[in-house]
Amino acid sequence: MINKTKGPLIKVEKVSVTYNEGQSNEVRSLIDGNLKLYPEEYVIIFGPSGCGKSTLLYTIAGLQKPSKGQVIIGEQNVYELGKKEKVEFHRRKIGLIFQAFYLIPSLNVLDNVCLPKTAAGSRIKKRKADAQILLNRFGIANQASKMPSELSGGQKQRVSIARSLANNPDIILADEPVGNLDSISKHNVMKILDDLNKKDKKMIILVTHDASHLRYGDRILYMRDGKIVKEEIVKNKQSIGDAMPEEITTSEKIAPDLKMLMRAFQDLSLSQIGVLLAPFKAQQLFSHILLSKTYEQIDRTTKGLEDLLLSKATYDEFVEKLDISLDEGGAGFDKRNAEKFAKHAMALITTKRKIDPKKSEISAKILLDYLVDYFELKLTEEQTKRTKILLSLRVKNKISVAEIQKGFDMPVREGGSGLDKRTAEKMAREIEIIMLLTYG
Ligand code: ADP
Ligand code: MG
Repeated sequence: MINKTKGPLIKVEKVSVTYNEGQSNEVRSLIDGNLKLYPEEYVIIFGPSGCGKSTLLYTIAGLQKPSKGQVIIGEQNVYELGKKEKVEFHRRKIGLIFQAFYLIPSLNVLDNVCLPKTAAGSRIKKRKADAQILLNRFGIANQASKMPSELSGGQKQRVSIARSLANNPDIILADEPVGNLDSISKHNVMKILDDLNKKDKKMIILVTHDASHLRYGDRILYMRDGKIVKEEIVKNKQSIGDAMPEEITTSEKIAPDLKMLMRAFQDLSLSQIGVLLAPFKAQQLFSHILLSKTYEQIDRTTKGLEDLLLSKATYDEFVEKLDISLDEGGAGFDKRNAEKFAKHAMALITTKRKIDPKKSEISAKILLDYLVDYFELKLTEEQTKRTKILLSLRVKNKISVAEIQKGFDMPVREGGSGLDKRTAEKMAREIEIIMLLTYG
């Protein structure tokens, strides 16, 4: 929750960061950034790699001195602090979490968590007891005497979160904290951050380039090329449940990711970040069509899809890219699979291009034609009518993916399309991916 009663806790005023100023390799990583951040809010800094997210975060943290402007936390100008004061300030005010964890390899888990307290000079016994409480809280109590190298990525990140909390700071800064984790650990860490915000009332500033995280914040700052290009208050902020999300327990991991994304975007206008989403869209599109490929194949195919999405490559060029062997820089599909794959991708993309959310009737008809064609459906007049109504509602964002699936599955006399469950599910997924592609 954003609590403005006490005024902003952090003020970023006209801050610019330029690396290698005046030299040939000068980089303007942050340009004239202005921000007011309030106690207890959960802020997400979102943007593509290299746009300056980390620079902004570290500037707020007092770690990256701005070339211009100032950062004020509480009443304090962060860059006017002396060295000793700064250490003290950090310890009391700010907890940091990084993608790469940065645990000390030669210290065991408990000692890593105690580390920030060592400087605070509290007694060893008390320090260790406090650290143990944090480990308990994050479900890693029995790892206390292990060395970091013995832990999984998810466990390491929980240790690093525990460490960031050692001195109970009001502000937690997290730089892509789940970037290196598997989906279960991602969920655990995101849940911890959510709890720290909701239950412990910590201000969270999360840097991410993962669009599925957007729905957890109170406020999203979109960054591009060193600038905050857009700011958005999240109206339907969502909480993370204790239970594992569905996507982790089912074998089909792709569709639920999309579901998350769709939910994340339901209330946002995304005109400014369309191109920015292309890599993500391409990846999703790929996974959607085909799962079992090597990393290299996935990588090359995804790049090909991105070009296709952005019209940088034609259909024929895409087929060729898929067909060429890995050694020659292609994706190493055989001809038949390349064509089948490319045809499906192209059908999705051309359908997407014809969709206009403002023209829901026409769009619904286009989607219907796509489904009939792709699934070779034979629908009665009544089924056609029902299905079109559902599609039109989906285009207008009046119903969710789950609801449209239910509608496809429901008997005609109850107002549904009357299709079998499996087909309903597959159809909903096709619609979902097309809808995703239409964003931005
Ligand atoms: P992000 O976190 O969004 O990926 P960064 O803030 O890390 O982006 O980087 C923004 C830009 O600044 C990039 O072009 C990056 O190469 C450059 N940059 C970051 N740190 C340095 C540095 N220490 N020296 C020179 N350039 C840097
Ligand atoms: Mg970064």
